[in-house]
Amino acid sequence: MTFKTLDDADLAGKRALVRVDLNVPVHREEGGDAQVTDDTRLRAAVPTIEKLRAGGAKVILLAHFDRPKGKVVPSMSLEPIAPALAKVLGAPVAFAHDCVGDVAKTAVDALKAGDVLLLENVRYHPGEEENDAEFAKALAANGDLYVNDAFSAAHRAHASTEGLAHLLPAYAGEQMRRELTALDKALGNPQRPVLGIVGGSKVSSKLDLLRNLVTKLDKLAIGGGMANTFLYAQGHDVGASYCEKEMAETAREIIRLAGQNNCKLFLPLDIVVAEKMAPGAPARVRGLGEVDDDERILDAGPETVERLCRAMENSKTLIWNGPLGVFEIPPFDKGTVEAARKAGELAKAGKLVAVAGGGDTVAALNHAGCAGDFTFVSTAGGAFLEWMEGKSLPGVAALAQ
Ligand code: ADP
Ligand code: MG
Repeated sequence: MTFKTLDDADLAGKRALVRVDLNVPVHREEGGDAQVTDDTRLRAAVPTIEKLRAGGAKVILLAHFDRPKGKVVPSMSLEPIAPALAKVLGAPVAFAHDCVGDVAKTAVDALKAGDVLLLENVRYHPGEEENDAEFAKALAANGDLYVNDAFSAAHRAHASTEGLAHLLPAYAGEQMRRELTALDKALGNPQRPVLGIVGGSKVSSKLDLLRNLVTKLDKLAIGGGMANTFLYAQGHDVGASYCEKEMAETAREIIRLAGQNNCKLFLPLDIVVAEKMAPGAPARVRGLGEVDDDERILDAGPETVERLCRAMENSKTLIWNGPLGVFEIPPFDKGTVEAARKAGELAKAGKLVAVAGGGDTVAALNHAGCAGDFTFVSTAGGAFLEWMEGKSLPGVAALAQ
């Protein structure tokens, strides 16, 4: 798909309405100001803002914060985010207490070329999530062009993520461009062979994703709690493991679908079990079918991880969502950490395009200390998963030319 980027835009003196993702985690002391506890998303917004400022645009930021559901909820104001953003940007960020109407217009009119203004939470208005035409028009009144830099909100057809793109000349921001390019390298037009790893807890939440991936990938490794469901579906005892027994037929259907599409499926060869899911609980390596009634499968076994590492060496591209075990509770982080480090090493050496995403997956790669070695790690959450499911994302589709 093709879209316009900021390299195609005439920016001087223009009012650029920029949809960014500023939905950062905050900590609030009682009676005190909100403090940003992780500024990853603020830093991600910087390249686009800097490019617009360098081109002489007036930068007007649109964002949501939390879920006020169309009403003004003071604890969900973006106001405390403005100084945090100013800090990572190294430039002042003005704030306006509404994103439309006179309050917004007065603040926008006061801008000079290169200035940055943050408008209040777009979700204070019900028209945002309804993608209401009048609300989108009211937003558009303050811009000459629209830039979408919030891939993580692109799976929603809201006024600031989709509607605006039809009202103003629309461009992909730098972060959006990076994300789309990386995702295209991983699944759109990958170098083959391409290997997938899908883990995490539930088959039921990743059904569409598994169904899409088996039609696109050369190899797919299944891990985590969902692998238990696949083992159960194949007649293996899973003891007291987390397992969605009602999904057994679905698991068998995915195995069949993989066969029909020439996607080689890697199910666990061995597993790590314990009686308790607790830090430092005594862990044992077991073969399939050797799980006692009171034991839980909590991680992939060493042979399984070894085979996965070989498969990475024999692939050109890796796409990964979902940890291989309960990585939050050592020693059950071992399989995930070893596989993650291997992928990171190969990516760093230029031997593998390694792309990963998903809330817990990002946490697991950070825990393994190798997120920085991956070719790309998507922090987009829901949008990343919908993209892996092969769905068209409204915010991205609206940028298409
Ligand atoms: P993501 O957020 O990256 O998409 P998920 O939310 O699907 O990933 O899955 C992450 C969760 O899966 C983690 O909390 C992890 O503890 C859990 N998990 C992994 N393996 C197992 C297992 N064998 N049994 C139970 N839970 C597991
Ligand atoms: Mg999760």
